[in-house]
Amino acid sequence: MTYRCSLTAADSRVWLDQHDQLVVAVRPVWSQLDRCPHCRRRCPGYDLGEGRRRWRALDLGTTFCFLEADAPRVECRQHGVVVAAVPWARHDAWFTRSFDDTAAWLAVNTSKTAICQLLRIAWRTVGRICERVSAEANAGRDPYAGLTELGFDEISIRKGQKYLTVVVDHHTGRLVWAAFGRDRKTVEKFLDLLGEERCNQIQLVSCDDADWITLPIAERCPNAAICLDPWHIVKAATDALDEVRRTVWNEARRAGNKQLAKDLKGARFALWKKPENLTERQQAKLAWIAKLNAPIYRAYLLKEQLRAIYHASYEDALTLLDDWLKWARRCRLEPFVKLARRITEQRAKVEAALSNNLSNARVEQVNTQIRLILRRGFGYRSPDAVIALAMLSLGGLCPPLPGR
Ligand SMILES: [Zn+2]
Repeated sequence: MTYRCSLTAADSRVWLDQHDQLVVAVRPVWSQLDRCPHCRRRCPGYDLGEGRRRWRALDLGTTFCFLEADAPRVECRQHGVVVAAVPWARHDAWFTRSFDDTAAWLAVNTSKTAICQLLRIAWRTVGRICERVSAEANAGRDPYAGLTELGFDEISIRKGQKYLTVVVDHHTGRLVWAAFGRDRKTVEKFLDLLGEERCNQIQLVSCDDADWITLPIAERCPNAAICLDPWHIVKAATDALDEVRRTVWNEARRAGNKQLAKDLKGARFALWKKPENLTERQQAKLAWIAKLNAPIYRAYLLKEQLRAIYHASYEDALTLLDDWLKWARRCRLEPFVKLARRITEQRAKVEAALSNNLSNARVEQVNTQIRLILRRGFGYRSPDAVIALAMLSLGGLCPPLPGR
C-alpha cells in the first residue's frame, strides 16, 4: 500500500508542546480520507470520534516526536462504525507505522534491553507491536501457498507444563505456523487453515510417531507420506538403553553392590554419546561395561546399530533395519523388544523417512530458535506475543527497517 502524508505549509503545523515534545499536525491526502481500516473501502462519515489524537513517531534525534490529527469515525457497510484508517499508522495503534516496523525489526535482531532503552517503550508494548506487525504481514499474503513438505514437532515449555506445536516448511526451513497445545485439536486447527485443496498437495510430513499428529494427517492429507523422524527413533533407542541401565543399577543397589551401582551411574554419558565423540575415560568405561555387564553392553550396541541405519544408503538401510529388528526381538531386553514392536508397527513410516532422506533437523533448528525467543524475555503469560515474534523471526515476516 502506498500513501503520502500531506505536509504543506498551508495545512500543517509543527510545534514543541509544554513537555518539549515535537508535534506535527498532519492529515491524510484526499484519496486516503474516510476509509474503513479493515477493508479500505471509502465510507460515509459518521462523527468526529474523540477529536484530535496523537501517534508516537520515531524520535527526532533525542526529542520525542508525535503526529497529531483528527480521528473521525466512518460507517462501513461491512464493518459498522469504526475510526477511519490513517495512512501513517496501523489500525488501533498508538504508534506510527515506521515506529512499529522499527520496533519489530529490533525485536527480531537485538536484545530486550536494547529495544526498550533505544525506543523508550515497555517490553509489553514490544509484544503488542510484534502481534500487530505479524498479523498485518500474514494478512497481506497467503502463508500456506505451495506447501508440499512439512515437519511437525512440539516444544515443551516450562518443564512439560505447556507445549507449543510448530509446523515448518522443509523447503525453506521457515516456520509456517505455531500454536500452544499438543493434541489432535491443535493439529486439526492447522489443517483447517490449509483447507482441503492444500492438504491434498502435501506430499511429505515428518514427525514423531505420536497419534495426535499422524492420525489427523493420514486422514486429511491423502497424498502425504508420513516419515518418522530419525532423531525421535534414535532417542527412543537411547531411552530404552537408559531403562536397561537403570534396571541393572537398581538390581546392583538392592543386592548391596555399592561399587557397581556407583560405576554404572558414572557410565551414563559414555553410553549416551556417539562413539566417535567419546573421551579416553569414557572409552575405558565402555570397555569396562563390555567386559562386566553383558545386558547393558548389548543395549548399547543395539542403540548404536539403530543409529547407524540412518547413515547408510537406502538399500543397505533396509537390510540393516531387518537385521536390527530380528536382533532386537530376541535380545531379551524388554525395552528393546518393545521398541522393535513399535518400529515394526510403524515400519512404512520409518522406511518413508529413509527413502526420502527426510529428518526433522530443520524443525529442530526452528525449535532451538523459539526456545531462545522464550528465554529472551517474552513471558509465558503473553503466548500471542511469543508466537508473533517467532513468526517475524523465523517465518520470514520481519519488515525491513523503514527507509532502508
Ligand atoms: Zn470495512
